[in-house]
Formats: sequence, structure tokens, C-alpha cells
Amino acid sequence: MPRFVIVGGGPVGLAAGIEARLRGAEAVVVERCGGPVDKACGEGLMPAGVAHLARLGAVPAAAASHPIRGIRYIDATGGRKVVVEAPFANGMGLGVRRLGLSEALRERAVGLGVELWERTEALGFRADRAGVTLETSGGSVGGDWLIGADGLHSQVRKWARIEVVAGPARRLGIRRHFPVTPWTDFVEVWWADNVEAYVTPTGPHRVGVAFLWGGRRGRGDFDTFLAGFPELAARLGAPESSIRGAGPFDVRVSTQASGRVLLVGDAAGYVDALTGEGLALGFGQAHELVGLCLDGRWAEWPARWSVITRRHRMFTRGLLQLAARPWLRRLAFRGLAANPWAFRLALNHGAGRPALTG
Ligand SMILES: Cc1cc2nc3c(=O)[nH]c(=O)nc-3n(C[C@H](O)[C@H](O)[C@H](O)COP(=O)(O)OP(=O)(O)OC[C@H]3O[C@@H](n4cnc5c(N)ncnc54)[C@H](O)[C@@H]3O)c2cc1C
Repeated sequence: MPRFVIVGGGPVGLAAGIEARLRGAEAVVVERCGGPVDKACGEGLMPAGVAHLARLGAVPAAAASHPIRGIRYIDATGGRKVVVEAPFANGMGLGVRRLGLSEALRERAVGLGVELWERTEALGFRADRAGVTLETSGGSVGGDWLIGADGLHSQVRKWARIEVVAGPARRLGIRRHFPVTPWTDFVEVWWADNVEAYVTPTGPHRVGVAFLWGGRRGRGDFDTFLAGFPELAARLGAPESSIRGAGPFDVRVSTQASGRVLLVGDAAGYVDALTGEGLALGFGQAHELVGLCLDGRWAEWPARWSVITRRHRMFTRGLLQLAARPWLRRLAFRGLAANPWAFRLALNHGAGRPALTG
């Protein structure tokens, strides 16, 4: 039976394992943490991501999630508050606590017979024309393909000598949760100069707040950032989780494949978290990649990756221009506020649109 060896039991690695089992292949997922795994994330899942989860049979518990109807941008800089919002045109999104997402995927993977090697570090691999052998802290494991789903700073990518170029937008992110009843079913993005706050309902009585920033703001301090959004801060009170961070983003990868070693999710290249699409895109990639491998067409993966991520990369780079240029952002948001249909169009041809696959 064909066998996938997957490094990384984050959402995309687990999704790849589930995809493999759903198509009758074997899968081993090697994850250095004990599950369920937490991580810095805005925790907003776009409608396409919700559709992927349903197809995978991994639906997060209601206590760890909250339906999301659309996206609202709020810009109170420049002496005037501008609010622009639009609902998703293609179904509901989901705010989901990362632990709840991980739990749902992990349970489904184990239920389908994915071999989950937790608290196991991947250490390196050997590959030849016939297959791959991964060395781990728990022994070696062989398979037909090695899938690197090991995140932004992928080791598999380094071991495969795949070149990485840092893009110009060196941004970082941090997140924290607050035990308050969500006041909206929109993801709110509060914009200021060089930092944005992403506010996502992630449970019946929980709201997550993530900050993304770039430029000269150093490593970033959660409380200092929050103090810059007094109207938001007044709604939150004391946090219920500790701070987690990630970045820098904008990791450009020369290729997503080296023989039978294939990259997926953040490991395959990442622009920025500001469209909240990483999870939906990663699930779509896992679906495509497993299919290509089983069809004997894994050499096509880099070209396919480029096609299925193109719209997202263009949209994200466009928004990064607004994040870096306050005057342009204010101008754009005022224009969108006067023409709400334009924001609806942008959202649903950008962040809210379903992935091309799945
Ligand atoms: C601040 C912030 C906000 C974000 N907001 C959103 C959002 O609202 N919506 C959205 O869709 N996306 C968002 N994202 C992006 C999203 O979090 C990522 O796209 C997603 O986590 C990618 O999943 P992944 O499985 O590819 O990688 P990861 O989640 O990084 O998982 C990689 C896994 O590999 C494991 N690993 C790494 N190396 C090894 C090794 N050597 N051996 C064993 N295991 C290893 C790690 O422990 C980890 O569990 C955000 C990201 C950030 C930082």
C-alpha cells in the first residue's frame, strides 16, 4: 500500500494524513509536541476552510468555535472612524480555538488509522528513486513520499536544500484570548499605522485578539499594542491565555518539491497572515498534493502549488501595501465605505473565496 511519511502534526500535516487514509493509503505523522497542539493564530477559518473540514470529517466542538459571517475593517486613525464590512458570499466561516481545531483533526486522523508519532522529533531523511526514510527521535520510518508540513521555519525544506528567500515584508504576529461574549459574528480587523488587531470570536464566551506588525516596531508588546486601540481594549478585560507569537512571515521558497520530498502548508511558502487564509489554503494544498502523489504525478506539485495559491498571494501583497502606507489605506477605506459593493467584491474574490480545489 502506498505510504506517506509526514513531518508536522499541525493542521495541514494532520489534514494530509486524513486525505491519505480517505484514499486508501497509509500515513505516519511525526509531531514533536504532544497533541492537541496550540500555536499563534488569528483562528479565523474562511468558508473554504470550513468546507474542507466538513469533507475531511473533522468538525471542531461548538465550545471551541463560533460561526463567522464576514469581515469588518475598522480604521479610527486620521481623525475619522471608517467602518467597512461585507458578509461572505459562499457560506459561513468559523472562528475556532486552535486547540479545538487540532483536537478535531487529531481525533479524526487517529480514528481513520493514521499512525501518529507524537513527542517525536524528525531529525533528517534519506531519499532515493524508490522512496524515503525519515530518521526521528523514536527510530526510523520509511515511505513512498516525505511530506514537509513542518511550518514556516521548515527543517524538511532545509534538509532538502530547497532555497528560501526572505521577502521584503518582514512582519510578525502575537495572539491572546479573552473570556468575553463575542459582540459580533464578524472578524474585526482594527487598523492603525504599522499594526493591525484581528479580533475573532472563537467560542460562545471567548474572543481571540492577534496583532500583526512590521516596520520598526521590534518584537512587539501585546499590552502596548492593545493600548493603541482604546475602544477595543474597553471590551476585553483580563486575558485567559498566555501570549504566543510567530514570524517573521514572507518566506519565498524556490520550489515545493525535491524528488519525493514535497512541501505543503506554511512550509511551502507563506506571505502574511493578514487575510486569514493560511488554514484554508493549507487544507486545499493537502488535498491536491495527496491526489497528485497517488496518481503518480507528484513532479507537477510546484506548478500546481503556484496555480492554487496565486490569487491569495496577489491579494495578500495588495493588502500589505495598504498596511505599510497609512495615507493610501485611509484613502482606500473611505472609498470602500462609500461603495460597500466594492469591498464585498474584493473580499469574495480575495479572502472569502473558496480555494480552487476541494
Ligand atoms: C499571528 C497569526 C495569525 C494567523 N491568523 C490566521 C487566521 O486567522 N486564519 C488562518 O487560516 N490562518 C492564520 N494564520 C496562519 C496559520 O496559523 C498557518 O497558516 C497554519 O498554522 C499553517 O499550518 P501548518 O500545519 O502548515 O503549520 P504549523 O501549524 O506551523 O504546524 C507545523 C507543525 O510541525 C511541527 N514540527 C516542526 N518541525 C518538526 C520536527 N522537526 N519534527 C516534528 N514536528 C515538527 C510543529 O510542532 C507544528 O506542530 C495566522 C498565523 C499567525 C502567526
